Amino acid sequence: MSGNCKLNPYFADLHVHIGRSESGQPIKISGSKELTFRSIAREASQRKGIQLIGIIDCHSPAVQTDIMNCLDSGEMVEVAGGGIRYGDTTLLLGTEMEVRESTGGPFHLLGYLPDLKSMMEWTSWMKPRVTNITLSSQRIRVTAAELQAELLARGGLLIPAHVFTPHRGLLGCAADRLDELLDPAGIAAIELGLSADTEMAGYLSELDRYSFLTNSDAHSTGMIGRECNELLLAEPSFQEWAMALRGEAERRILANYGLHPQLGKYHTTFCTSCNKALSDKSSPLSVCPLCGSAKLVRGVSGRIAQLADRENSVQPANRPPYRQQVPLSFFSWSGARHAGSAAVRNRNGNAGAPSSAS
Ligand SMILES: [Zn+2]
Ligand SMILES: [Zn+2]
Repeated sequence: MSGNCKLNPYFADLHVHIGRSESGQPIKISGSKELTFRSIAREASQRKGIQLIGIIDCHSPAVQTDIMNCLDSGEMVEVAGGGIRYGDTTLLLGTEMEVRESTGGPFHLLGYLPDLKSMMEWTSWMKPRVTNITLSSQRIRVTAAELQAELLARGGLLIPAHVFTPHRGLLGCAADRLDELLDPAGIAAIELGLSADTEMAGYLSELDRYSFLTNSDAHSTGMIGRECNELLLAEPSFQEWAMALRGEAERRILANYGLHPQLGKYHTTFCTSCNKALSDKSSPLSVCPLCGSAKLVRGVSGRIAQLADRENSVQPANRPPYRQQVPLSFFSWSGARHAGSAAVRNRNGNAGAPSSAS
């Protein structure tokens, strides 16, 4: 593609789950029944103004039937550069998989493929390696490196999901470095997760080479666009997105819009016995200072302090700004009056109650 075509900014949320197929089959068990391939397309296009939306769970054969119906009816069309267009919005086909290695706890990897055909081939590869191919975020019986090689061989992009979270984040619970488990050259970007931001990630030099993404990981319609990215592209498509992640031919990420990290559920260490958030700024806690329990979930800020390999947060020159947002739904009416001058953004119409912020 020529580098001198006209580029425009587009909003992108690359991690949205499907709750049910149109036939009523559960896909993401914890997801809202309202979230189908078609309803996400409508919400993104008509209500949220999101022009690039990554739909996770497209590996599910039940979802693929829904996609084929949307294409057959003419309601949606395949985009030459990858993805499926509905109105002004392009839907990217993604999947989230859970891997467990001997180094630590299970973690999630996101895989994106350019078109329905390659996603269906991916499903054929996955099927004998998971227990239930219909469901979301299933444990897959391969190593992360094998999964990565297979995905890249099919033209896919691999992104570690919510990378720092103690619950299913690669750096949160499975390894101290990405290159312990993955080929660093085959990682397309890093998903920061709701409890971290660019400033926090800047303490890890290993991440300097990667683009950062801030996605909603929405399990309900209202959460779509809770976090999002602004991308400079010639058009919303899989290929243009891939170019932006690599910073090729002027394509790039213009800004990340993310939750203020302290609003994320996993920001600080949490005692599951007395249900309280604890400060772990100075030294990592091993037992709860309040009740003595060792049942602690190490927070993202403490985990990053533990992994940091430099004194200060450093950002490469091409790193875009991270704009912190506080969804309006986080304020009660009485709280909203006091919020006054707080930098409350709601450009994507965030709605719905705060829930599993990761
Ligand atoms: Zn996940
Ligand atoms: Zn997810």
